[in-house]
Amino acid sequence: MNLNNDITIAVKILCNGGLVAFPTETVYGLGADAMNKKATNRIFEIKKRPKNHPLIVHVASVDMAKKIVDDWPQLADKLANKFWPGPMTLVFKKNNLLPECVTGGQNTVAIRIPSNHTALNLLKQFAKNGSGYVAAPSANIYGLLSNTRYWDVKRSIGNYLTTSDFILEGQNCSYGVESTIIDLSSGNLRILRPGGISRNDISDFLNIKIESFDLDDSAPLVPGCSEKHYCPRTPLYVLSFLDQIKKIERFLNEYPKQGRFFYWGFRLIPLKSTQLKQVIAPSDPKEYGRNLYSKLNDLDEENYTSIFFESPPKNFEWEAVNNRLEKASS
Ligand code: AMP
Ligand code: MG
Repeated sequence: MNLNNDITIAVKILCNGGLVAFPTETVYGLGADAMNKKATNRIFEIKKRPKNHPLIVHVASVDMAKKIVDDWPQLADKLANKFWPGPMTLVFKKNNLLPECVTGGQNTVAIRIPSNHTALNLLKQFAKNGSGYVAAPSANIYGLLSNTRYWDVKRSIGNYLTTSDFILEGQNCSYGVESTIIDLSSGNLRILRPGGISRNDISDFLNIKIESFDLDDSAPLVPGCSEKHYCPRTPLYVLSFLDQIKKIERFLNEYPKQGRFFYWGFRLIPLKSTQLKQVIAPSDPKEYGRNLYSKLNDLDEENYTSIFFESPPKNFEWEAVNNRLEKASS
């Protein structure tokens, strides 16, 4: 793989209206020229994503971000200086430069400057040779697992891409969970989706308390806010240590021979069976997040009957991981 060469190819593909899957520090994105309606429409078709679920627009600079925004509050400069490039998405009132299909018909636009070297390079080159605006949701089929490795992307959407599209290979995703989405469009700061930057990081930096906010009630459409999302094919149960023991015991009784089970927890459970594999999960939330989707993708390939994860602690450091596990579990 020659990265510079691959980025040159990827930029040409974006300019020609093709799709480019690319690594970011969160998960792999499936990108199109945000100014090209036909190209962005294909993202929805390939992902089988409802048309009213808006896409995040990725750019290489704050100046480019400002051009597609109607109202840029001072707070945005503060947050951008601190957390961009990085796993933070800001939502603003939009102007009418972007086609409607990108923003799912809403009057807001979500923007991010990613820090992943490959992603940022792609955006910089595309700004020199094309529009520079890349609309990109996660590179996976709607509702299923996000992908943090090249081969996972290839397996999940590779068959739907054509020779006019491209998958960029780069470093694996260092955060591994999607970006934190912060809404600045209403005057108040609201976290619409927990992600790579924790609620504590933001509230400590701004020196304010950020209220918990229930996505399902009144947020603008955020796909991750539908109840089931990020789902592996294998049934996943996320329960406390003690509940997991009871649950797994019951499954072992119900499937005395043919069942194969996997447990991922912070300590081993006191059950021994050739049908049960147990692995200790990372106790650091960042490390856990980095491994989450690749672990689930690997487990899907191993065809377990069911998989069991011990629930992580319920605090802000684990908020993004807990959010994904809640939606991914049966
Ligand atoms: P994904 O499809 O997993 O990449 O997620 C992209 C996220 O950004 C989704 O949750 C989108 O709904 C969210 N998003 C994009 N545009 C907006 C917007 N204007 N307002 C709120 N959320 C948005
Ligand atoms: Mg997604």
